[in-house]
Amino acid sequence: MSSLRFKSIDNLNTAAEGKVSGSAKITAIFNENVFTLKTARAFLSDEAYKSMLSSVRGGKKIDRAVANQISAGLRQWAEAKGVTHFTHWFQPLTGTAAEKHDSFFTLKGDGTPIEEFDGAALIQQEPDASSFPSGGLRATFEARGYTAWDPSSPIFVMEIGAGKTLCIPTIFVSYTGESLDYKAPLLKALGALDKAAVEVCHYFDKNVTRVSATLGWEQEYFVIDEGFFNIRPDLVMSGRTVFGHSPAKGQQLEDHYFGSIPERIYAFMRDFEEESYKLGIPLRTRHNEVAPSQFECAPIFEEVSVGVDHNLLMMDIMDRVARRHKLRVLLHEKPFAGINGNGKHNNWSMSTDTGVNLLAPGKTPKTNLMFLTFFVNTIKAVHDYADVLRASIASAGNDFRLGANEAPPAIISVFIGQYLTKVLGDIKERVGDKFDEQDEAILKLDLHKSIPELLLDNTDRNRTSPFAFTGNKFEFRAVGSSANCANAMTVLNTILAETLKEFKSEVDSLIDKGEKKEIAIMHVIREYIVSSEKVLFEGDGYSDEWHHEAERRGLPNVRTTPLALDAMVTDKAKKLFEENGVYSHSELEARHEIELEKYIKKVQIEARIMGEMATSHILPPAIKYQNTLIQNIVGLKEIGLPESSYSNQKQILGKISDHIGKISELVEKLIEARKISNAITDTRTKAIAYNSQVKEPYFDEIRYHADKLELLVDDSEWVLPKYREMLFLR
Ligand code: ADP
Ligand code: MG
Repeated sequence: MSSLRFKSIDNLNTAAEGKVSGSAKITAIFNENVFTLKTARAFLSDEAYKSMLSSVRGGKKIDRAVANQISAGLRQWAEAKGVTHFTHWFQPLTGTAAEKHDSFFTLKGDGTPIEEFDGAALIQQEPDASSFPSGGLRATFEARGYTAWDPSSPIFVMEIGAGKTLCIPTIFVSYTGESLDYKAPLLKALGALDKAAVEVCHYFDKNVTRVSATLGWEQEYFVIDEGFFNIRPDLVMSGRTVFGHSPAKGQQLEDHYFGSIPERIYAFMRDFEEESYKLGIPLRTRHNEVAPSQFECAPIFEEVSVGVDHNLLMMDIMDRVARRHKLRVLLHEKPFAGINGNGKHNNWSMSTDTGVNLLAPGKTPKTNLMFLTFFVNTIKAVHDYADVLRASIASAGNDFRLGANEAPPAIISVFIGQYLTKVLGDIKERVGDKFDEQDEAILKLDLHKSIPELLLDNTDRNRTSPFAFTGNKFEFRAVGSSANCANAMTVLNTILAETLKEFKSEVDSLIDKGEKKEIAIMHVIREYIVSSEKVLFEGDGYSDEWHHEAERRGLPNVRTTPLALDAMVTDKAKKLFEENGVYSHSELEARHEIELEKYIKKVQIEARIMGEMATSHILPPAIKYQNTLIQNIVGLKEIGLPESSYSNQKQILGKISDHIGKISELVEKLIEARKISNAITDTRTKAIAYNSQVKEPYFDEIRYHADKLELLVDDSEWVLPKYREMLFLR
């Protein structure tokens, strides 16, 4: 068996070079496969174009007759590119995108073959919904689900090998209208934020008619050789290594960070970037991350809905392109123990249709007041709904980052930098009953100039914060690398919508009482600073002191997913989501159930693979080596050598036998614990049991003994590719 491991190492020398195209200018290929508004202009009638435009910009409904015109134009564009099939592209709660391909080809009543794609096919489809998670929302007799075109995200052509498919971004809902995907609630949350934020903007600028949230994600990932990947059943089945000793050279040296990108990886990057550009994904940066073989890419920010689609698309593209290069991308939050995990920072802000970034510090008193309003409302929202935000990023994979001693911690806090801390402190101290010179002085500060400079000094410390202000946006750093950003974005935008609504009603009631507008706003801002300041934290988020301090402050610190998810279904959460039109109570209950089930499945798979690999991959080479040692000892004894000549061998043999014994015993117990947990019918209790009865007592301990064996057993017999091979060879 170990021959496979060495074969993989040998094969590295002949690893296929993937396709790397010439140095086409990015602008020449950007959006090549996207039905942009510009393309629409060229392929659609005036009427169809206008209708599509108002639907994209203002969410207006498109009627059937116009839909027929749009679909005709779309087909014409797509067929010119060699497209034969179309699909409604949607985001079910499994986590990856789903597609069901239909061909344009059809037969007429008399049997004549034709190509057809009408408005109805563009607008709505009925994929077989029964195989997607619904959390009990669909009774089995009514398993129907519908996908419906979401014009806010552009239609694109996906090229896979020689095949080209027209992909229509859609939402996915049940027969009775409940959301079955990540996209529908996200659009509702963005709508709620738009409405609430526009109303607050009107205090400052009556011309604002639309506020859209923006997202710039940063995707971290590992890349390893496919030969190694294929012979690690844990990576294949669970996306992470359940065994493996840390390499002698870990990330201690940090020489990988911002170092030059290895050539083979570079070729892969160039290739997936090219595909991304064609699909309109505006990738900007690529670099090495802290850990060996870890990398990151990030696009220019976009509207949240489009950003979410692009991230999901890109994860898919990366995976496919990597295979072409005989590489594998690992998007799991913690593929390797003892080495940095993967995250997906979500940079987030809001901008108005008048071109203002609402989280960009101002230059004038008026813009400062507007900035402070949105800035403080965000802090208040995170403070009030920290538990819901924590739940939005909970997953089995992310528990290895958030629940472990790694950044960011499971405690949700906000970093704003020294300067803004001082500004908020000044407001808290100084704002009195009247708007006076001191208030004027605060508003006259050139925040615009001061903040970015002062933030620079703090970048090191703010790295450990789960939610940091970084100059003109907040950066939500606790999102899992394999997650769909939609979940976190739905919650963040909903909690801000709710907070802004409350803010508006408080300010209005002060104005009604005769207070001047600016004073009323400053008052409520001050009140919000006071009531939410305990969520602000500028120190080291990894430290033990912070864990104690957070507890003292009463901030929630829920380390595991089954319990973190509770926050989704509290009365507070139900009220929040229902009042903002994002989730009904039953939709929330269903999602809670689905997330728990996903957690259970993940831990279940890992437990199975761990038991199986322990028996089939770890123990055999250990037993073989045990025999070698026994033979050696017996031989030395037989020829009459003294005990001292084989005492070392005996000692090693003792250790190996000990580890073998422990592993066998623990694996038996693990299987027993799994059986007991499996029999539990209540989903939440079962998820908790999978964590506390299966994962916590056994995973680390079995691994400990297996990893010790890795160090003791003859390297030439060891079956599984070692960390140093996966991480340092390519
Ligand atoms: P860096 O932190 O690398 O110096 P930036 O701060 O400009 O660079 O951007 C970091 C990330 O934040 C990028 O992915 C970018 O797209 C995103 N970003 C920048 N501005 C915004 C914004 N207004 N809204 C959302 N994301 C943004
Ligand atoms: Mg970042």
